[in-house]
Amino acid sequence: APAETPQVVIDAHGLPYLDARLPVKRRVADLLSRMSLEEKAGQMTQAERNAVGTGGDIAAYDLGSLLSGGGSTPTPNTAAAWAKMIDGFQLRAQATRFQIPLIYGVDAVHGHNNLVGATVLPHNIGIGATRDPGTAEKAGAVTAAEVRATGIPWDFAPCLCVTRDERWGRSYESFGEDPALVKQMETVVQGLQGARDGKDLDRDDKVLATAKHFVGDGGTAYGSSTTGSYTIDQGVTKVTRQELEAVHLAPFQEAVDRGIGTVMPSYSSLDIIGDDEGPVKMHADAAMINGVLKDRMGFDGFVISDWQAIDQLPGDYASDVRTSVNAGLDMIMVPTAYKDFRTTLVDEVKAGRISEPRIDDAVSRILTQKFKLGLFEKPYADTSGAAAIGSAGHRAVARTAAAESQVLLKNAGGVLPLKKSQKVYVAGSNADDIGNQTGGWTVTWQGSSGKITDGTTVLEGMKKAAPGATISYSKDASAPTDGYDVGVVVVGETPYAEGIGDVGNGNDLELTPADQAAVDKVCGAMKCAVLIVSGRPQLIGDRLGDIDALVASWLPGTEGDGVADVLYGAKPFTGQLPVTWPKSQAQLPINVGDTAYDPQFPFGWGLTTLRTPPGGGTLTLKALALAAAAAQKAGSAEAGRAVVGKARLLVQQKVGQDITPAVAEPFADADHLLLSGRYADAVAKLTEAYRAA
Ligand code: BGC
Repeated sequence: APAETPQVVIDAHGLPYLDARLPVKRRVADLLSRMSLEEKAGQMTQAERNAVGTGGDIAAYDLGSLLSGGGSTPTPNTAAAWAKMIDGFQLRAQATRFQIPLIYGVDAVHGHNNLVGATVLPHNIGIGATRDPGTAEKAGAVTAAEVRATGIPWDFAPCLCVTRDERWGRSYESFGEDPALVKQMETVVQGLQGARDGKDLDRDDKVLATAKHFVGDGGTAYGSSTTGSYTIDQGVTKVTRQELEAVHLAPFQEAVDRGIGTVMPSYSSLDIIGDDEGPVKMHADAAMINGVLKDRMGFDGFVISDWQAIDQLPGDYASDVRTSVNAGLDMIMVPTAYKDFRTTLVDEVKAGRISEPRIDDAVSRILTQKFKLGLFEKPYADTSGAAAIGSAGHRAVARTAAAESQVLLKNAGGVLPLKKSQKVYVAGSNADDIGNQTGGWTVTWQGSSGKITDGTTVLEGMKKAAPGATISYSKDASAPTDGYDVGVVVVGETPYAEGIGDVGNGNDLELTPADQAAVDKVCGAMKCAVLIVSGRPQLIGDRLGDIDALVASWLPGTEGDGVADVLYGAKPFTGQLPVTWPKSQAQLPINVGDTAYDPQFPFGWGLTTLRTPPGGGTLTLKALALAAAAAQKAGSAEAGRAVVGKARLLVQQKVGQDITPAVAEPFADADHLLLSGRYADAVAKLTEAYRAA
């Protein structure tokens, strides 16, 4: 608690809801029965922390929640300042009649990314590339521990978007284009929240998580918005009902099964082919939120709106409020219009346009999570875990994740791993820029270039990995290139969080002219490896012929050491493409399962420098097919994955760089089948790819 104030006596009223020994359900019912309509409406209101100043309105309007929108950080931006700020607000909430604690939320989408000095992990696209559910879970655990240690119990993550068109500016927030892959990475929910039944939520290293954005955010059609007024990442997702179920809804069912505490609807609209309805804004979609999410899927947490999203609904404000609450939204991120919202909500109930049971349901859902989080017992920040923020232990997790996320797309002549005896010429816009390698949602909302937080850049990591080696650096490759053994050119995107993405790049997935020039110069002068630090594939096209080794580095986070680990061979490359890598702009959108599938690199591609390549005569595809069938029968996921992995290596060895459509299609399909646990079918597909090669 803040030093200047006395600790609140929790059971001051001696009321049942304050008795921690009673079941949550009873506590909720007891508290709800005492609350006025105004107090209930306040619980459903989430304001931005800047909008409430020092917090006087928290008690006046019975606010249930506050958030820090992107970049809304305390000054100074330290762990202690976060805890102090939130405690200050909480103190106001504790001055209300029932002392209902606030629930404070932030976007910690790859570590406690708002806080300078925190551990920043790879963005989701890189986590998807690791194909390692254990890594995803650990990433969630690191995030939760650092966030909760600053007094924040709620995280607006993970994004469960399935990115289907990488021109979408939030593709980097997706674990990949395949719903089976996204589902596999949802171990992150356990990392964040702990046990599925929510019993760990009151721990000082766990947070309530948010599955977002429900539903179809990754499926919006580039440039096809029917109104023309939506920005790209808030457009229209036009899908068949079957595609909606299989691609976009499936990850949410998984999250519900994992006990996700909250769900955030998407800004986008849904247009189901075959229904005559036309696009429906997700924040107004009662059929999806009430019908599918809550009733059919059995989601029993609460639904939090996206930022000011109800303002995008047609009609006046009263209609926005009524439509969204009646569609099943439980708490609204207003974020400045909290007075208006609460008053309007109360008026709508009094006028009978929103039912009281609907309000009671919403408030019960919110209070249930507050009780589970232990906020009634411990409303103030427990900073006992603060020493772990940005600690060596947490950075080691991020470093491993970064290393596992690196996807080796091409490696002609075995340029990688580098040898410490080689003279290395490093160039490119993203070689030595921690801001660029962390991307959006880092310290500020959209992120920014430059030294914005602590960590190591790729260049710094390389120098640490090869201490005595000659490693020179020329950002724009203007320094003379002669005398070097190998070039490493690190190019890609500059940070962005929402919208169309890297606007400077024209959103066409092309490398900038400066990046292209650096690649051409270095790769024209010596053997070279090109690393692409970006939130989505960048078009290489014919330039690929001049590049010896190509690596998709994604947005690896603060630990450039992890990238250096694979570059210098301390760890093998094991990452696999979480999305299809296109040859050209004209191919977009391109996804696994497409009929004419002719990518530069298929979904699941990723060479390995693992020292155990598939060996000799015994390791034939036929033998592997038998082994896969046996694994399938025995129900052994581990054995199945190992067998399919070996078969994949055999195919990659034979294919080399000659990835024709006849190879790409079954190769990508095999990966999808593997993710779905169909090992025998996966090996059959790989056999098909092998024959075609
Ligand atoms: C984003 C959400 C985010 C919210 C709160 C919105 O602009 O779409 O993903 O959780 O802001 O910061």
